[in-house]
Amino acid sequence: MPRYICTNCKTEYEAKTADGFCSNQPTCEYGSGWLKEIAESGESAPDAATAAGSEAEPPISFDREIGLCILMMDGSLSMGEKAFPTTDYPGNKYQLIATNAAGGIWSLKNVTHSESAYIALCIFAGKPDLVWVKSVQEIIQLFETRDKFADFIRTTLETKTPEPGVTNINTAVNFAWQIYEAYLKGDLTAYGAPDNFKPLSHKVVCHDSQGAEEYVSIPNARVLIYTDGEHNVTAAVKNPFENGRSVLLSAFVGEDEESAGIKQMQRIANVCPKHAPAKGFFLINSPERIQTLKGLFRMASGASGFCPSCLSSEPPPSE
Ligand SMILES: [Zn+2]
Ligand SMILES: [Zn+2]
Repeated sequence: MPRYICTNCKTEYEAKTADGFCSNQPTCEYGSGWLKEIAESGESAPDAATAAGSEAEPPISFDREIGLCILMMDGSLSMGEKAFPTTDYPGNKYQLIATNAAGGIWSLKNVTHSESAYIALCIFAGKPDLVWVKSVQEIIQLFETRDKFADFIRTTLETKTPEPGVTNINTAVNFAWQIYEAYLKGDLTAYGAPDNFKPLSHKVVCHDSQGAEEYVSIPNARVLIYTDGEHNVTAAVKNPFENGRSVLLSAFVGEDEESAGIKQMQRIANVCPKHAPAKGFFLINSPERIQTLKGLFRMASGASGFCPSCLSSEPPPSE
């Protein structure tokens, strides 16, 4: 009889669980560990990349008071397909995104001023739509557990996405831009956020072309858009963030290396002010990138970094 081991917490199982994911909760965050068959020799398949860190996670320090992350989540029908079909990862893309978005945001629960870190949760396919704007603190209070929050995200993506058969990156990015502009003006009341909202900036150390250090002031906001497909409506993508200092991060989710969506996402991503010419683009094309995906949601939600190099210098999300 084959035996199985969790890729995350290394718990061993006599048989596969019904959905293929580790059931050792709450120790092992639901969705981050799945069962791999143990090789004949008794060794587990090499997959150390996802081993859970057990040491306590140092909190991100909020030296700023109000942050906004606009999450523009692709909910198109293709997200219902297996996330990584050439591997033994058992989930579809809705599940992959939901568990890691929830995990990334939830890991901010102990930061100081979690009441001041706002998330504008948006969904899109053929059209974009706002789900709500809430602070991290409100999210923690409302959903009580990370798993309930993940269930909410998944159900919302699966059932509420407008025009799920189409992917329109253009309207999605422009919808995010409208929210971002409202944030810069200090008035998000149109989106159901409190009206005592003041936009703040933080200083980022940059290096100019001669290598000299300079400080650049950047709004405490990030936009994160991902897709598993490609822009497939007639109007070309016009990216409103490309004028000026962009806060737009992007990701492509899936194994299809030929997808035009990869180049489209790369093109619209910001150039990192700290690590230029590195861009804020993230490719999530294998289960080994799951921690990156969760870290990306955490980093964007905390309005901290801009690119993969920024992410690798942040503490890993271990909860
Ligand atoms: Zn596990
Ligand atoms: Zn960077």
